Amino acid sequence: MKKKDALIPRCSFCGRSQLEVDKLISGVDAYICDRCISYCNQILNRQKEKPDPFLNELNIENLPKPKYIKEKLDEWVIGQERAKKVLSVAVYNHYKRLLSNTSKKDVELEKSNILLIGPTGSGKTLLARTLAKILNLPLVIASATNVTEAGYVGEDVETILLRLLQKTDFNIPLASKGIVYIDEIDKIAKKSGANPSITRDVSGEGVQQALLKILEGTIANVPPQGGRKHPHQQFIQLDTSNILFICGGAFPGLEEIVQDRIGEKAVGFSSKKEVGKSKIIDQLLPDDLIEYGFIPEFVGRLPVIAVLDKLTKDQLKQILFKPKNAIIKQYQKLFELEGVKLTFTEEAMDEISSLTFEREMGARGLRAIVEDIMLDLMYELPSISNIRECIIDREVVRKRKNPIILTHQMTA
Ligand code: ADP
Repeated sequence: MKKKDALIPRCSFCGRSQLEVDKLISGVDAYICDRCISYCNQILNRQKEKPDPFLNELNIENLPKPKYIKEKLDEWVIGQERAKKVLSVAVYNHYKRLLSNTSKKDVELEKSNILLIGPTGSGKTLLARTLAKILNLPLVIASATNVTEAGYVGEDVETILLRLLQKTDFNIPLASKGIVYIDEIDKIAKKSGANPSITRDVSGEGVQQALLKILEGTIANVPPQGGRKHPHQQFIQLDTSNILFICGGAFPGLEEIVQDRIGEKAVGFSSKKEVGKSKIIDQLLPDDLIEYGFIPEFVGRLPVIAVLDKLTKDQLKQILFKPKNAIIKQYQKLFELEGVKLTFTEEAMDEISSLTFEREMGARGLRAIVEDIMLDLMYELPSISNIRECIIDREVVRKRKNPIILTHQMTA
């Protein structure tokens, strides 16, 4: 029975036997089935259809300058001035390097992946998203906590690259210049000495090693169907050396590491307490990240570090109404469609930002509070006629009172 099976020709690409496919075409030393031919055709056609819009249109002269990038970021991201500047320069240099490496090869400029350090809800993901939007590049957002080292159950680093390919509809040249944002990078730090009985740290060093490969630039073999690699699976090769990786995390405890180092150095002329709290993290050195639990090679691959500050009450208030897609603007638009003007008083916005500030969730908390306030109103509004304006004041936020409703017959 087995001998008989071995005589049946099989597709050299997918391994299916002649009995499982419609057509099997033989070559000198190999076979290919109709399914694999049609799959190859799809890949070739997709690549033909989509020229590389980014690099075709861009050259060093018309590459968005750091100032332009920062101005665009200002439209979406409140505060975080220094981080926006650092990012604008880093992104400009990244794409300048990419453009210059396509022509001359004399001095190869190293790529600069970026590390964003800042509390939750301070705008790390928003920065990555906005950059991708400004530059019109594909973006994938992944969490480091889902990534496992090769060979373990979980998401391979290749899966992140597959998502980038899917975003571009398998346009390989475009995907290879995309942006990958890896969130919660602090969670894959080695737990230093916390439990010496654990000899292998699944969530730590192994994952750093796996990410390191794609961060430093490699030709990755991405399985087009995702999941585990399979001996008979075909791969799409994606060069990661021009992909911009932005890693982000809150890094709880990092400030203390910097503080300890500065404190020790400062003995004799300055006590620990004299070092201003907001300045501590600005003095971060790569060694502090190694102390935090990152392998030196990994830290070396994230040469650009930008620190985001905890948002102040005033900044939280601005986030409510200033950015292009500010939450209040969105509600105003919805009300406008019903012919109603929606107004939030200054005091109401102060109250919302104070409540959010207390919850320590950064700007993440704003939406939940506003949605909660607006729910009843959104429910009732479409059934009430004659409304001209709806005013949300402090009492609505604080005591959940009904908003002030002005109808066409009344005046305020
Ligand atoms: P994280 O720093 O945890 O990645 P996000 O960028 O995901 O935070 O922000 C969460 C939410 O808060 C998003 O809806 C985002 O639009 C808003 N947000 C956070 N920071 C800012 C900011 N500095 N300016 C404007 N909106 C912000």
